[in-house]
Amino acid sequence: MTPDFGARIAALQDGMHEQHLDGLLLSGMANVRYLTGFSGSNALLVVTVRGSVILITDFRYQTQVADEVGDAARIVIATNSLWTELWTVLATVAGLEVIGFESAHLLHRDFERLLGDGARWQWRPARDLVESLRERKDAGEIALIEIAARIATEALADTLPQIRVGQSETAIAGILEKALRDAGSEGFPFATIVASGPRSALPHARSSLRTVESGDFLLIDFGAIHEGYCSDITRTVVVGKASDEQRQVYDAVRVAQEKACTDVRAGMRGREADAIARDYLRDAGLAEGFGHSLGHGIGLEVHEGPRLASTADGILPLDAVVTVEPGVYRAGWGGVRIEDDVLLATAGPRRLTDFPRELLELS
Ligand code: ZN
Ligand code: ZN
Repeated sequence: MTPDFGARIAALQDGMHEQHLDGLLLSGMANVRYLTGFSGSNALLVVTVRGSVILITDFRYQTQVADEVGDAARIVIATNSLWTELWTVLATVAGLEVIGFESAHLLHRDFERLLGDGARWQWRPARDLVESLRERKDAGEIALIEIAARIATEALADTLPQIRVGQSETAIAGILEKALRDAGSEGFPFATIVASGPRSALPHARSSLRTVESGDFLLIDFGAIHEGYCSDITRTVVVGKASDEQRQVYDAVRVAQEKACTDVRAGMRGREADAIARDYLRDAGLAEGFGHSLGHGIGLEVHEGPRLASTADGILPLDAVVTVEPGVYRAGWGGVRIEDDVLLATAGPRRLTDFPRELLELS
């Protein structure tokens, strides 16, 4: 399914119009990809309210950009630097006075170029113009995330039976990453987290050389990428037999996650979604161990809007795909996190990551 780039550009132009911008200079590559289909790593995109869409990239991408972008944008291959080409291009566009730039994606070094060589235009910082559009997924995007989710769960199913006491976290991450590649993942949205024993209490651990012991929690947080779209899933298992305390903490997190996955709705505020799991864990006496937010949007980036957090006032839009990932961590003992990807559909939430959530004891 080819994305409707024209509709995306039109929605962006509405947002630019509201902010009194004649044009917008985009340098965030996920935004460039969303608006044009270009998946390269070096480009500048200019969109004007009057309808010009101009993509400037370099010689390395000459063939790729033509294939990916087609007529979604006028393509300019820079002979020198992208910036030199930008000034030439802008000078040919009529009616451009006030131009927005992406304050979240422009390096300070490049901002200085705007004030120097670009001084004949007025530059205004713009935030989240494209990011806010990206929060709502269309049917094609949802289908791609579903495939990324399936690749991830297939890879996990492949990996768990291969885990043994005495393997290092990095070795287990290696088995999982190979399984992800075999299942078709284009890459890894972030460095695969395998955290064992007391290290599972580090919510954003790096996989280390620690070897797994019997009775350890093993927290595995990873994702797959399919046609640029990410999945993000966490499961926590026990290697060997679980203790009563492990089981008790696990069950509390599992119920909190289940409740949030069932009750989260489009139209809610991010903090209301976060509270579903947080209130349950507080009542269970475990709130102090849940120090991070409930979740985040996923799409072309593994962390994008909307946020599901106690500080998030934003409304969760219809057709957003978000993670639901409560966790409880005890320093020196271990931690549990369970994470699924959930589509906020009209009919209610739908989990895209289908993998058992009961506590698995690996033999
Ligand atoms: Zn994750
Ligand atoms: Zn996540």
